[in-house]
Amino acid sequence: MIGVLALQGNFDSHIKILKKINLKHKLVKTSNDLISINGLIIPGGESTTMTNLLRKNPSLVDGINSLAKNKPILGSCAGLILMSKESNDSRVHNFAFLDVITSRNAYGRQVHSFESRINVKDGSMKSDIEVLFIRAPKIDKINNDVEVLATYKEEVVAVRQGKHIGISCHPELLNETLIHEICFKGKHEVS
Ligand code: GLN
Repeated sequence: MIGVLALQGNFDSHIKILKKINLKHKLVKTSNDLISINGLIIPGGESTTMTNLLRKNPSLVDGINSLAKNKPILGSCAGLILMSKESNDSRVHNFAFLDVITSRNAYGRQVHSFESRINVKDGSMKSDIEVLFIRAPKIDKINNDVEVLATYKEEVVAVRQGKHIGISCHPELLNETLIHEICFKGKHEVS
């Protein structure tokens, strides 16, 4: 069962993807909801708003930190910003599950939202998937132990560190399941 952080943002679309790949889900609003989950999704939305809601609930923050020690966390867009070690906005909470530096809204404003294909590569598996960029962050710096999982026009748009994955755009809004499968069902290796 995978938890979906449901404080704010587009958690519904992640639930659809989990259903599509036959994984059970649980909405996470308090630390008690973290009991018996095998992974967590931090959805897109507004990282500052999510930060404010998290700050009101320190036990939830502690619970997510402990979960991350042995269970995979997947963050998309605002979720990636929260998972990064550092971002360009001091109002944002950084869980630091991914040793990267992100900059908020670096792909432009809402009106600059766009759909595109990104190139995913995991070991010998290569696949293009359709995603939406909506006020997406850029990954400006990647430190040691962080793998590049996807690129768009040679820019890194998804990374993995250990079990955790962060992606700057939204595959879930276009019904793409690959990133969720990689995160929660293991690596895709093509012989
Ligand atoms: N720009 C938003 C933020 O900084 C993220 C946008 C999104 O999640 N689609 O939090």
